[in-house]
Amino acid sequence: MLPVVALVGRPNVGKSTLFNRLTRSRDALVADYPGLTRDRQYGQAHVEEHPFIVIDTGGIHGDETGIDALMAEQSLMAIEESDAVLFLVDARAGLSSADQSIAEHLRKQNKKVFLVANKVDGIDADSAVAEFYSLALGEVHQIAAAHGRGVTQLLTLALSPHIEALTALSEEETDEDAIQTTTLNDEELIEQSPEEDDMIKLAIIGKPNVGKSTLTNRILGEERVVVYDMPGTTRDSVYIPMEHKGRKYTLIDTAGIRRRKNVTDIVEKFSVIKTLRAIEDANVCLLIIDARDGLSDQDLSLLGFILEAGRSLVIAVNKWDGLDEHAKDRIKTEIDRRLGFIDFARMHFISALHGTGVGHLYESVEEAFVSATKRISTSMVTKILDMATFDHQPPMHNGRRIKLKYAHAGGYNPPIIVIHGNQAKHLPVSYKRYLMNYYRKSLKMMGTPIKIEFRETS
Ligand code: GDP
Ligand code: GDP
Repeated sequence: MLPVVALVGRPNVGKSTLFNRLTRSRDALVADYPGLTRDRQYGQAHVEEHPFIVIDTGGIHGDETGIDALMAEQSLMAIEESDAVLFLVDARAGLSSADQSIAEHLRKQNKKVFLVANKVDGIDADSAVAEFYSLALGEVHQIAAAHGRGVTQLLTLALSPHIEALTALSEEETDEDAIQTTTLNDEELIEQSPEEDDMIKLAIIGKPNVGKSTLTNRILGEERVVVYDMPGTTRDSVYIPMEHKGRKYTLIDTAGIRRRKNVTDIVEKFSVIKTLRAIEDANVCLLIIDARDGLSDQDLSLLGFILEAGRSLVIAVNKWDGLDEHAKDRIKTEIDRRLGFIDFARMHFISALHGTGVGHLYESVEEAFVSATKRISTSMVTKILDMATFDHQPPMHNGRRIKLKYAHAGGYNPPIIVIHGNQAKHLPVSYKRYLMNYYRKSLKMMGTPIKIEFRETS
Protein backbone atom coordinates (compact mmCIF):
# COMPACT_ATOMS: atom_id res chain seq x y z
CA MET A 1 0.00 0.00 0.00
CA LEU A 2 1.60 3.25 -1.18
CA PRO A 3 2.11 5.74 1.62
CA VAL A 4 0.86 9.28 1.10
CA VAL A 5 2.69 12.47 2.05
CA ALA A 6 0.73 15.73 1.99
CA LEU A 7 2.45 19.12 1.65
CA VAL A 8 0.61 21.81 3.58
CA GLY A 9 1.40 25.46 4.16
CA ARG A 10 0.44 29.02 3.35
CA PRO A 11 1.19 30.30 -0.18
CA ASN A 12 4.80 31.00 -1.12
CA VAL A 13 6.53 28.82 1.47
CA GLY A 14 7.90 26.49 -1.22
CA LYS A 15 5.37 23.65 -1.50
CA SER A 16 5.47 23.44 -5.27
CA THR A 17 9.27 23.74 -5.27
CA LEU A 18 9.44 20.75 -2.94
CA PHE A 19 6.77 18.90 -4.94
CA ASN A 20 8.73 19.38 -8.15
CA ARG A 21 11.95 18.26 -6.57
CA LEU A 22 10.34 15.10 -5.24
CA THR A 23 8.58 14.16 -8.46
CA ARG A 24 11.16 15.46 -10.94
CA SER A 25 12.69 12.12 -11.75
CA ARG A 26 9.47 11.18 -13.45
CA ASP A 27 9.42 7.84 -15.11
CA ALA A 28 11.03 7.57 -18.54
CA LEU A 29 7.78 6.03 -19.70
CA VAL A 30 5.82 9.24 -19.29
CA ALA A 31 8.59 11.18 -21.01
CA ASP A 32 7.96 8.96 -24.03
CA TYR A 33 4.45 10.39 -24.30
CA PRO A 34 4.84 14.11 -24.89
CA GLY A 35 1.07 14.57 -25.18
CA LEU A 36 0.68 14.12 -21.45
CA THR A 37 1.04 16.79 -18.87
CA ARG A 38 1.72 15.80 -15.35
CA ASP A 39 -0.77 16.49 -12.64
CA ARG A 40 0.62 19.43 -10.68
CA GLN A 41 -1.00 18.32 -7.46
CA TYR A 42 -0.48 14.59 -7.26
CA GLY A 43 2.75 12.85 -8.05
CA GLN A 44 4.76 9.71 -7.53
CA ALA A 45 8.07 10.04 -5.78
CA HIS A 46 10.73 7.77 -4.31
CA VAL A 47 12.86 7.75 -1.24
CA GLU A 48 15.51 5.03 -1.01
CA GLU A 49 13.77 3.24 -3.90
CA HIS A 50 10.47 3.20 -2.02
CA PRO A 51 7.60 4.77 -3.92
CA PHE A 52 5.11 7.08 -2.28
CA ILE A 53 2.41 9.51 -3.34
CA VAL A 54 3.04 13.18 -2.76
CA ILE A 55 0.29 15.76 -2.75
CA ASP A 56 0.66 19.50 -3.02
CA THR A 57 -2.46 20.71 -1.26
CA GLY A 58 -2.04 24.15 -2.84
CA GLY A 59 -3.50 27.14 -1.15
CA ILE A 60 -6.74 26.24 0.59
CA HIS A 61 -8.69 29.29 1.65
CA GLY A 62 -12.03 27.72 2.50
CA ASP A 63 -14.13 29.93 0.21
CA GLU A 64 -13.51 28.13 -3.07
CA THR A 65 -16.21 27.66 -5.66
CA GLY A 66 -16.66 25.50 -8.76
CA ILE A 67 -13.63 23.50 -9.85
CA ASP A 68 -11.56 25.13 -7.09
CA ALA A 69 -14.01 23.81 -4.52
CA LEU A 70 -13.57 20.33 -5.93
CA MET A 71 -9.81 20.66 -5.70
CA ALA A 72 -9.95 22.07 -2.19
CA GLU A 73 -12.18 19.19 -1.16
CA GLN A 74 -9.68 16.72 -2.59
CA SER A 75 -6.88 18.50 -0.70
CA LEU A 76 -8.72 18.29 2.60
CA MET A 77 -9.45 14.63 1.93
CA ALA A 78 -5.78 14.18 1.08
CA ILE A 79 -4.74 15.51 4.47
CA GLU A 80 -7.22 13.18 6.08
CA GLU A 81 -6.03 10.21 4.06
CA SER A 82 -2.31 10.93 4.30
CA ASP A 83 0.20 8.98 6.33
CA ALA A 84 2.38 12.01 7.02
CA VAL A 85 1.81 15.74 6.72
CA LEU A 86 4.73 18.03 5.95
CA PHE A 87 3.74 21.45 7.23
CA LEU A 88 5.99 23.97 5.50
CA VAL A 89 6.88 27.37 6.91
CA ASP A 90 9.23 30.02 5.51
CA ALA A 91 12.44 30.38 7.54
CA ARG A 92 13.19 33.70 5.82
CA ALA A 93 9.80 35.32 6.26
CA GLY A 94 9.41 34.10 9.84
CA LEU A 95 6.32 33.05 11.73
CA SER A 96 3.02 34.42 10.42
CA SER A 97 -0.56 34.34 11.64
CA ALA A 98 -1.47 32.08 8.70
CA ASP A 99 1.11 29.56 10.00
CA GLN A 100 -0.54 29.73 13.39
CA SER A 101 -4.03 29.02 12.11
CA ILE A 102 -2.84 26.13 9.94
CA ALA A 103 -0.97 24.70 12.95
CA GLU A 104 -4.13 24.94 14.99
CA HIS A 105 -6.08 23.06 12.34
CA LEU A 106 -3.41 20.36 12.10
CA ARG A 107 -3.18 19.88 15.86
CA LYS A 108 -6.89 19.01 15.89
CA GLN A 109 -6.39 16.25 13.37
CA ASN A 110 -4.86 13.12 14.66
CA LYS A 111 -2.06 13.15 12.10
CA LYS A 112 1.66 12.67 12.03
CA VAL A 113 2.80 16.24 11.33
CA PHE A 114 6.36 17.26 10.52
CA LEU A 115 7.05 20.95 10.89
CA VAL A 116 9.42 21.96 8.11
CA ALA A 117 11.25 25.29 7.89
CA ASN A 118 12.12 25.85 4.24
CA LYS A 119 14.61 28.25 2.60
CA VAL A 120 17.37 27.80 5.19
CA ASP A 121 20.01 28.28 2.49
CA GLY A 122 22.38 31.21 3.11
CA ILE A 123 20.90 32.28 6.45
CA ASP A 124 21.68 31.55 10.09
CA ALA A 125 19.21 28.69 10.14
CA ASP A 126 19.23 27.76 13.82
CA SER A 127 18.34 31.23 15.03
CA ALA A 128 15.87 31.78 12.18
CA VAL A 129 13.83 28.69 12.96
CA ALA A 130 13.80 29.11 16.74
CA GLU A 131 10.50 31.01 16.80
CA PHE A 132 8.68 28.15 15.04
CA TYR A 133 9.00 25.99 18.14
CA SER A 134 6.21 28.14 19.57
CA LEU A 135 3.83 26.33 17.19
CA ALA A 136 4.17 23.36 19.55
CA LEU A 137 4.51 20.83 16.76
CA GLY A 138 7.77 19.41 17.98
CA GLU A 139 11.05 19.38 16.10
CA VAL A 140 11.53 22.01 13.36
CA HIS A 141 13.11 20.27 10.38
CA GLN A 142 15.32 22.46 8.24
CA ILE A 143 15.37 22.17 4.48
CA ALA A 144 16.15 24.15 1.35
CA ALA A 145 13.74 22.70 -1.18
CA ALA A 146 15.24 24.70 -4.02
CA HIS A 147 18.64 23.08 -3.45
CA GLY A 148 17.56 19.71 -2.11
CA ARG A 149 19.23 20.26 1.24
CA GLY A 150 17.73 18.12 4.00
CA VAL A 151 15.00 16.76 1.74
CA THR A 152 16.01 13.09 1.63
CA GLN A 153 16.59 12.95 5.39
CA LEU A 154 13.20 14.51 6.01
CA LEU A 155 11.34 12.07 3.74
CA THR A 156 13.24 9.11 5.11
CA LEU A 157 12.17 10.14 8.57
CA ALA A 158 8.56 10.87 7.61
CA LEU A 159 8.20 7.52 5.86
CA SER A 160 10.32 5.44 8.22
CA PRO A 161 7.47 3.24 9.54
CA HIS A 162 6.54 2.35 5.95
CA ILE A 163 10.11 1.82 4.83
CA GLU A 164 10.69 -0.54 7.75
CA ALA A 165 7.54 -2.50 6.94
CA LEU A 166 8.46 -2.72 3.27
CA THR A 167 12.05 -3.75 3.96
CA ALA A 168 10.81 -6.57 6.17
CA LEU A 169 8.46 -7.67 3.39
CA SER A 170 11.06 -7.56 0.62
CA GLU A 171 13.53 -9.56 2.69
CA GLU A 172 10.98 -12.36 2.74
CA GLU A 173 10.70 -12.17 -1.02
CA THR A 174 14.37 -12.11 -1.98
CA ASP A 175 14.61 -15.86 -2.51
CA GLU A 176 11.89 -15.74 -5.12
CA ASP A 177 13.49 -12.75 -6.84
CA ALA A 178 16.83 -14.50 -7.14
CA ILE A 179 15.25 -17.29 -9.14
CA GLN A 180 13.44 -14.87 -11.42
CA THR A 181 16.60 -12.96 -12.32
CA THR A 182 18.44 -16.06 -13.44
CA THR A 183 15.49 -17.13 -15.54
CA LEU A 184 15.33 -13.78 -17.30
CA ASN A 185 18.99 -13.78 -18.22
CA ASP A 186 18.98 -17.32 -19.52
CA GLU A 187 20.21 -17.30 -23.12
CA GLU A 188 18.45 -20.51 -23.99
CA LEU A 189 15.06 -19.42 -22.80
CA ILE A 190 12.46 -19.12 -25.50
CA GLU A 191 9.31 -17.07 -25.39
CA GLN A 192 6.81 -18.36 -22.90
CA SER A 193 4.02 -17.03 -20.77
CA PRO A 194 4.16 -18.82 -17.46
CA GLU A 195 1.58 -16.51 -15.92
CA GLU A 196 -1.25 -17.62 -18.15
CA ASP A 197 -3.01 -19.31 -15.27
CA ASP A 198 -2.49 -16.45 -12.89
CA MET A 199 -5.07 -14.07 -11.56
CA ILE A 200 -5.50 -10.71 -13.25
CA LYS A 201 -5.92 -7.74 -10.95
CA LEU A 202 -8.11 -5.39 -12.92
CA ALA A 203 -8.66 -1.84 -11.69
CA ILE A 204 -11.65 0.10 -12.97
CA ILE A 205 -10.46 3.69 -13.19
CA GLY A 206 -12.31 6.85 -14.11
CA LYS A 207 -13.45 10.22 -12.87
CA PRO A 208 -16.76 10.52 -10.96
CA ASN A 209 -19.93 9.57 -12.85
CA VAL A 210 -18.31 7.92 -15.87
CA GLY A 211 -20.08 4.68 -15.03
CA LYS A 212 -17.60 2.71 -12.92
CA SER A 213 -20.22 1.29 -10.56
CA THR A 214 -22.64 0.60 -13.38
CA LEU A 215 -19.92 -1.35 -15.19
CA THR A 216 -18.83 -3.20 -12.06
CA ASN A 217 -22.43 -4.18 -11.39
CA ARG A 218 -22.87 -5.28 -14.99
CA ILE A 219 -19.73 -7.43 -14.87
CA LEU A 220 -20.64 -8.92 -11.50
CA GLY A 221 -24.21 -9.56 -12.55
CA GLU A 222 -23.01 -11.73 -15.38
CA GLU A 223 -20.17 -13.60 -13.77
CA ARG A 224 -19.83 -16.12 -11.05
CA VAL A 225 -18.89 -14.00 -8.10
CA VAL A 226 -17.23 -15.34 -5.04
CA VAL A 227 -18.19 -12.80 -2.46
CA TYR A 228 -15.60 -12.17 0.16
CA ASP A 229 -16.44 -9.72 2.82
CA MET A 230 -13.21 -7.81 2.79
CA PRO A 231 -12.82 -5.11 5.35
CA GLY A 232 -11.94 -1.76 3.92
CA THR A 233 -11.71 1.83 4.96
CA THR A 234 -12.94 4.72 2.87
CA ARG A 235 -9.50 5.21 1.44
CA ASP A 236 -9.22 1.67 0.15
CA SER A 237 -10.81 0.13 -2.90
CA VAL A 238 -12.93 -2.98 -2.63
CA TYR A 239 -11.34 -6.14 -3.99
CA ILE A 240 -13.76 -8.55 -5.60
CA PRO A 241 -12.60 -11.98 -6.74
CA MET A 242 -14.41 -13.35 -9.82
CA GLU A 243 -13.99 -15.69 -12.72
CA HIS A 244 -14.61 -15.40 -16.45
CA LYS A 245 -14.14 -18.31 -18.87
CA GLY A 246 -11.79 -20.09 -16.49
CA ARG A 247 -9.62 -17.04 -15.90
CA LYS A 248 -9.45 -15.72 -12.36
CA TYR A 249 -9.76 -11.99 -11.82
CA THR A 250 -9.77 -9.63 -8.90
CA LEU A 251 -11.76 -6.53 -9.67
CA ILE A 252 -10.35 -3.49 -7.91
CA ASP A 253 -13.45 -1.42 -7.46
CA THR A 254 -12.57 2.21 -6.77
CA ALA A 255 -16.25 3.18 -6.75
CA GLY A 256 -16.87 0.91 -3.79
CA ILE A 257 -20.19 -0.54 -4.93
CA ARG A 258 -20.09 -3.53 -2.62
CA ARG A 259 -20.22 -1.29 0.37
CA ARG A 260 -23.41 0.37 -0.79
CA LYS A 261 -26.23 -1.54 0.82
CA ASN A 262 -28.73 -0.35 -1.73
CA VAL A 263 -28.93 2.13 -4.55
CA THR A 264 -30.20 4.89 -2.34
CA ASP A 265 -27.02 4.81 -0.24
CA ILE A 266 -24.88 7.86 -0.64
CA VAL A 267 -22.49 7.50 -3.53
CA GLU A 268 -19.01 7.15 -2.23
CA LYS A 269 -16.67 10.07 -2.59
CA PHE A 270 -14.23 9.99 -5.44
CA SER A 271 -10.71 9.89 -4.08
CA VAL A 272 -7.59 10.48 -6.13
CA ILE A 273 -5.50 8.64 -3.56
CA LYS A 274 -7.73 5.59 -3.73
CA THR A 275 -7.41 5.68 -7.51
CA LEU A 276 -3.61 6.02 -7.42
CA ARG A 277 -3.32 3.08 -5.07
CA ALA A 278 -5.64 0.97 -7.20
CA ILE A 279 -3.53 1.72 -10.27
CA GLU A 280 -0.36 0.78 -8.43
CA ASP A 281 -1.87 -2.48 -7.24
CA ALA A 282 -3.39 -3.58 -10.56
CA ASN A 283 -1.94 -5.60 -13.41
CA VAL A 284 -4.31 -4.06 -15.91
CA CYS A 285 -6.19 -0.75 -15.72
CA LEU A 286 -9.50 -0.25 -17.44
CA LEU A 287 -9.80 3.50 -17.98
CA ILE A 288 -13.39 4.63 -18.47
CA ILE A 289 -14.12 7.77 -20.45
CA ASP A 290 -17.56 9.39 -20.74
CA ALA A 291 -18.67 9.67 -24.37
CA ARG A 292 -21.09 12.42 -23.41
CA ASP A 293 -18.46 14.62 -21.75
CA GLY A 294 -15.67 14.09 -24.24
CA LEU A 295 -12.09 13.99 -23.01
CA SER A 296 -11.44 15.99 -19.86
CA ASP A 297 -8.23 17.05 -18.15
CA GLN A 298 -9.07 14.64 -15.38
CA ASP A 299 -9.12 11.74 -17.88
CA LEU A 300 -5.70 12.77 -19.14
CA SER A 301 -4.27 13.07 -15.68
CA LEU A 302 -5.59 9.60 -14.72
CA LEU A 303 -4.04 8.29 -17.92
CA GLY A 304 -0.76 9.94 -16.90
CA PHE A 305 -0.84 8.12 -13.57
CA ILE A 306 -1.44 4.79 -15.33
CA LEU A 307 1.51 5.38 -17.66
CA GLU A 308 3.72 6.60 -14.85
CA ALA A 309 3.04 3.37 -12.99
CA GLY A 310 3.83 1.39 -16.16
CA ARG A 311 0.51 -0.42 -16.04
CA SER A 312 -1.23 -2.20 -18.88
CA LEU A 313 -4.20 -0.33 -20.21
CA VAL A 314 -7.52 -0.88 -21.92
CA ILE A 315 -9.70 2.15 -22.67
CA ALA A 316 -13.49 1.99 -22.61
CA VAL A 317 -15.55 4.88 -23.91
CA ASN A 318 -18.80 4.48 -21.99
CA LYS A 319 -22.38 5.73 -22.51
CA TRP A 320 -22.17 4.92 -26.21
CA ASP A 321 -25.91 4.17 -26.20
CA GLY A 322 -28.34 6.63 -27.69
CA LEU A 323 -25.71 8.84 -29.35
CA ASP A 324 -26.37 9.99 -32.91
CA GLU A 325 -23.77 9.48 -35.65
CA HIS A 326 -22.67 13.09 -35.45
CA ALA A 327 -21.93 12.86 -31.72
CA LYS A 328 -20.12 9.55 -32.19
CA ASP A 329 -17.93 11.04 -34.94
CA ARG A 330 -17.14 14.02 -32.80
CA ILE A 331 -15.90 12.05 -29.81
CA LYS A 332 -13.96 9.62 -32.02
CA THR A 333 -12.18 12.52 -33.71
CA GLU A 334 -11.37 14.12 -30.39
CA ILE A 335 -9.96 10.89 -29.01
CA ASP A 336 -7.85 10.34 -32.13
CA ARG A 337 -6.47 13.82 -31.89
CA ARG A 338 -5.69 13.85 -28.18
CA LEU A 339 -4.98 10.19 -27.43
CA GLY A 340 -3.38 9.20 -30.72
CA PHE A 341 -0.02 8.90 -29.00
CA ILE A 342 -1.27 6.04 -26.82
CA ASP A 343 -0.96 3.62 -29.68
CA PHE A 344 -0.63 0.51 -27.56
CA ALA A 345 -4.01 0.48 -25.85
CA ARG A 346 -7.13 -1.08 -27.32
CA MET A 347 -10.21 1.09 -27.29
CA HIS A 348 -13.78 -0.14 -26.79
CA PHE A 349 -17.05 1.73 -27.21
CA ILE A 350 -19.47 0.38 -24.65
CA SER A 351 -22.68 0.90 -22.78
CA ALA A 352 -22.31 -0.25 -19.19
CA LEU A 353 -25.99 0.47 -18.70
CA HIS A 354 -27.18 -1.88 -21.46
CA GLY A 355 -24.19 -4.22 -21.48
CA THR A 356 -23.30 -3.52 -25.11
CA GLY A 357 -19.66 -4.29 -25.83
CA VAL A 358 -18.85 -5.21 -22.24
CA GLY A 359 -18.10 -8.87 -23.04
CA HIS A 360 -15.35 -7.93 -25.48
CA LEU A 361 -13.42 -6.05 -22.80
CA TYR A 362 -12.13 -9.35 -21.41
CA GLU A 363 -10.28 -10.16 -24.64
CA SER A 364 -8.30 -6.93 -24.51
CA VAL A 365 -7.66 -7.23 -20.77
CA GLU A 366 -6.37 -10.77 -21.28
CA GLU A 367 -4.19 -9.69 -24.20
CA ALA A 368 -2.74 -6.79 -22.20
CA PHE A 369 -1.96 -9.02 -19.23
CA VAL A 370 -0.31 -11.71 -21.33
CA SER A 371 1.75 -9.09 -23.20
CA ALA A 372 2.87 -7.40 -20.01
CA THR A 373 3.95 -10.59 -18.28
CA LYS A 374 5.44 -12.37 -21.28
CA ARG A 375 9.01 -13.53 -20.68
CA ILE A 376 11.32 -12.73 -23.53
CA SER A 377 14.77 -14.16 -24.11
CA THR A 378 18.01 -12.25 -24.59
CA SER A 379 18.58 -13.91 -27.95
CA MET A 380 15.14 -12.82 -29.09
CA VAL A 381 15.50 -9.15 -28.12
CA THR A 382 19.00 -8.99 -29.63
CA LYS A 383 17.75 -10.56 -32.86
CA ILE A 384 14.97 -7.98 -33.06
CA LEU A 385 17.51 -5.21 -32.41
CA ASP A 386 19.63 -6.50 -35.29
CA MET A 387 16.62 -6.51 -37.60
CA ALA A 388 15.54 -3.03 -36.56
CA THR A 389 19.00 -1.48 -37.03
CA PHE A 390 19.42 -3.30 -40.34
CA ASP A 391 16.13 -1.93 -41.68
CA HIS A 392 16.90 1.58 -40.51
CA GLN A 393 20.32 2.36 -39.05
CA PRO A 394 20.77 4.71 -36.11
CA PRO A 395 21.84 8.28 -36.95
CA MET A 396 25.27 9.89 -36.48
CA HIS A 397 26.28 11.81 -33.41
CA ASN A 398 29.35 14.09 -33.41
CA GLY A 399 30.45 12.58 -36.70
CA ARG A 400 30.30 9.03 -35.40
CA ARG A 401 27.51 6.58 -36.04
CA ILE A 402 25.62 5.52 -32.91
CA LYS A 403 26.10 1.76 -32.55
CA LEU A 404 23.61 -0.47 -30.79
CA LYS A 405 25.23 -3.80 -30.01
CA TYR A 406 23.00 -6.12 -28.07
CA ALA A 407 19.96 -6.15 -25.85
CA HIS A 408 18.51 -8.13 -23.00
CA ALA A 409 15.26 -8.29 -21.11
CA GLY A 410 15.37 -6.22 -17.96
CA GLY A 411 12.04 -7.21 -16.46
CA TYR A 412 8.38 -7.55 -17.16
CA ASN A 413 5.10 -5.96 -16.17
CA PRO A 414 5.87 -3.65 -17.85
CA PRO A 415 8.38 -5.28 -20.19
CA ILE A 416 11.78 -3.61 -20.00
CA ILE A 417 14.32 -3.97 -22.77
CA VAL A 418 17.88 -2.91 -22.04
CA ILE A 419 19.95 -1.97 -25.09
CA HIS A 420 23.73 -1.68 -24.92
CA GLY A 421 25.72 0.40 -27.37
CA ASN A 422 28.13 3.26 -28.12
CA GLN A 423 26.72 6.73 -27.59
CA ALA A 424 23.33 5.09 -27.07
CA LYS A 425 22.31 7.95 -24.82
CA HIS A 426 22.42 10.34 -27.76
CA LEU A 427 19.74 8.55 -29.75
CA PRO A 428 17.05 10.99 -30.84
CA VAL A 429 13.52 10.50 -29.54
CA SER A 430 12.27 9.63 -33.03
CA TYR A 431 14.67 6.68 -33.23
CA LYS A 432 13.72 5.52 -29.74
CA ARG A 433 10.09 5.55 -30.81
CA TYR A 434 11.00 3.61 -33.94
CA LEU A 435 12.69 0.93 -31.80
CA MET A 436 9.75 0.80 -29.41
CA ASN A 437 7.30 0.29 -32.26
CA TYR A 438 9.57 -2.30 -33.85
CA TYR A 439 9.68 -4.27 -30.60
CA ARG A 440 5.95 -3.91 -30.14
CA LYS A 441 5.20 -5.32 -33.58
CA SER A 442 7.82 -8.07 -33.45
CA LEU A 443 6.82 -9.26 -29.99
CA LYS A 444 3.12 -8.76 -30.74
CA MET A 445 2.62 -6.81 -27.53
CA MET A 446 -0.66 -4.96 -27.19
CA GLY A 447 -2.05 -3.27 -24.15
CA THR A 448 1.20 -2.77 -22.29
CA PRO A 449 3.76 0.00 -22.47
CA ILE A 450 7.30 -1.15 -23.28
CA LYS A 451 10.17 0.52 -21.51
CA ILE A 452 13.51 0.75 -23.29
CA GLU A 453 16.64 1.59 -21.33
CA PHE A 454 20.00 2.37 -22.86
CA ARG A 455 23.40 1.46 -21.45
CA GLU A 456 26.78 2.71 -22.59
CA THR A 457 29.25 0.00 -23.63
CA SER A 458 32.73 0.84 -24.75
P1 GDP B 1 4.20 27.58 -2.79
O1 GDP B 1 3.28 28.74 -3.05
O2 GDP B 1 4.17 27.16 -1.36
O3 GDP B 1 3.99 26.43 -3.73
O4 GDP B 1 5.70 28.15 -3.00
P2 GDP B 1 6.68 28.02 -4.26
O5 GDP B 1 7.23 26.64 -4.37
O6 GDP B 1 6.01 28.59 -5.46
O7 GDP B 1 7.89 28.96 -3.78
C1 GDP B 1 7.72 30.33 -3.48
C2 GDP B 1 9.05 31.04 -3.69
O8 GDP B 1 10.04 30.59 -2.77
C3 GDP B 1 9.64 30.84 -5.08
O9 GDP B 1 10.16 32.07 -5.54
C4 GDP B 1 10.76 29.84 -4.84
O10 GDP B 1 11.80 29.99 -5.77
C5 GDP B 1 11.22 30.19 -3.46
N1 GDP B 1 11.84 29.06 -2.78
C6 GDP B 1 11.33 27.80 -2.65
N2 GDP B 1 12.18 27.00 -1.98
C7 GDP B 1 13.26 27.77 -1.67
C8 GDP B 1 14.50 27.50 -0.98
O11 GDP B 1 14.78 26.39 -0.54
N3 GDP B 1 15.35 28.54 -0.84
C9 GDP B 1 15.09 29.78 -1.34
N4 GDP B 1 16.00 30.72 -1.16
N5 GDP B 1 13.96 30.06 -2.00
C10 GDP B 1 13.05 29.07 -2.18
P1 GDP C 1 -19.33 6.17 -11.17
O1 GDP C 1 -19.35 7.40 -10.32
O2 GDP C 1 -18.17 6.20 -12.12
O3 GDP C 1 -19.38 4.89 -10.39
O4 GDP C 1 -20.62 6.24 -12.12
P2 GDP C 1 -22.03 5.47 -12.00
O5 GDP C 1 -21.88 4.04 -12.39
O6 GDP C 1 -22.62 5.76 -10.67
O7 GDP C 1 -22.85 6.19 -13.17
C1 GDP C 1 -23.15 7.56 -13.16
C2 GDP C 1 -24.39 7.82 -13.97
O8 GDP C 1 -24.19 7.48 -15.34
C3 GDP C 1 -25.58 6.98 -13.51
O9 GDP C 1 -26.72 7.80 -13.58
C4 GDP C 1 -25.63 5.86 -14.53
O10 GDP C 1 -26.94 5.35 -14.71
C5 GDP C 1 -25.16 6.55 -15.79
N1 GDP C 1 -24.55 5.58 -16.72
C6 GDP C 1 -23.57 4.70 -16.44
N2 GDP C 1 -23.26 3.98 -17.54
C7 GDP C 1 -24.06 4.41 -18.53
C8 GDP C 1 -24.21 4.04 -19.92
O11 GDP C 1 -23.57 3.15 -20.46
N3 GDP C 1 -25.15 4.75 -20.63
C9 GDP C 1 -25.89 5.74 -20.08
N4 GDP C 1 -26.74 6.36 -20.87
N5 GDP C 1 -25.77 6.10 -18.78
C10 GDP C 1 -24.87 5.45 -18.02
